[in-house]
Amino acid sequence: MYFPAMVKTIKRIIPAAVMLLSIVIMATAAAAPIAPNEIRVHYIDVGQGDAILIQSAQNAVLIDGGDAKAQQTLLDYLRSAGIKDLDYVIATHPHADHIGGLPKVIKQFVVRGVVMPDVAHTSATFEKLLSAIEKKGLRITVPKVGDTFAAGIIKFTVLAPGKKFKDTNNMSVVARMVHGETSFLFTGDAEDKSENEMLKSRQPLRSDVLKVGHHGSRTSTTDDFLDAVSPSAAVISCGKNNTYNHPNRETLVKLGRPERKITLFRTDKNGTVVISTDGRKVSPPAKREEQPNAMGDRQN
Ligand SMILES: [Zn+2]
Repeated sequence: MYFPAMVKTIKRIIPAAVMLLSIVIMATAAAAPIAPNEIRVHYIDVGQGDAILIQSAQNAVLIDGGDAKAQQTLLDYLRSAGIKDLDYVIATHPHADHIGGLPKVIKQFVVRGVVMPDVAHTSATFEKLLSAIEKKGLRITVPKVGDTFAAGIIKFTVLAPGKKFKDTNNMSVVARMVHGETSFLFTGDAEDKSENEMLKSRQPLRSDVLKVGHHGSRTSTTDDFLDAVSPSAAVISCGKNNTYNHPNRETLVKLGRPERKITLFRTDKNGTVVISTDGRKVSPPAKREEQPNAMGDRQN
């Protein structure tokens, strides 16, 4: 008589155990010990928006904080990655899908420096961010092209904005991180105008990993810029079925040209993407086989 009952109980236990196990695996993947020479870059899935955690054994930098709707996801992710302090919070530009989660991050974590472009925005979200920064007694650093920032082995050079653009997206702080022989480019929502300015400035743009500008929008990622960066991997941060139709099909075609040999990751298809470097080589995650459309969904 107790057999069916036991089977029933086991049936109930197994899914719970599987769920628990997958939570444990996810948590340990994010919080696995980091080697002294390793930098781990987490392109966090915050739906439509950007939030990128750059983490070494000793230091951490956050570039953007996603939309306010995703703030709990962001806070939970930072904690699961073992973050308590952030050496820098970089708000690439004051649009809600980049700064929405930042007021809570600034309130709840030890933050040492805030980097933002010289552009204001009349939104409640921006006001909230400024007041969180003020309450913490933090000063805002407005970077110039060529400025460098370092937090231990995490080192950046600012490449943009190279001039005062009318459009807020083009005012995005663009930063290139170099670690040994490897490099990562973080573009915020910079569009063609800022990309052309970066090309004109003749700064080194070549990077192993490109965070594709403006969620893969048509207005970013010119062929010339993509050729100059010449990445082996690219990441698009965007929400599933977003109303902007990001990423744009033309951008996906450019990224997917066989001669470019770019491995593309998308947070809407792959979830959070973690890419690590030991200074000699970049290790992107293996592509998930169950998501064959990650190279580009031709339907949208
Ligand atoms: Zn954006």
